[in-house]
Amino acid sequence: MFDEFLSQRGHNMDSAGWEDSYNKKQCPECGGLHDSDAVECTICGWSPAR
Ligand SMILES: [Zn+2]
Repeated sequence: MFDEFLSQRGHNMDSAGWEDSYNKKQCPECGGLHDSDAVECTICGWSPAR
């Protein structure tokens, strides 16, 4: 299920799993917004690298 979700968004890979929203990164898990240099979500702890 999660793999399908990712593959549908495969055209946007430059930030490895983050959603893009107005020059911010948006966590796909909780929807929290972070600066472009964020490496993990400080709200729910999600990380694109795990
Ligand atoms: Zn999050």
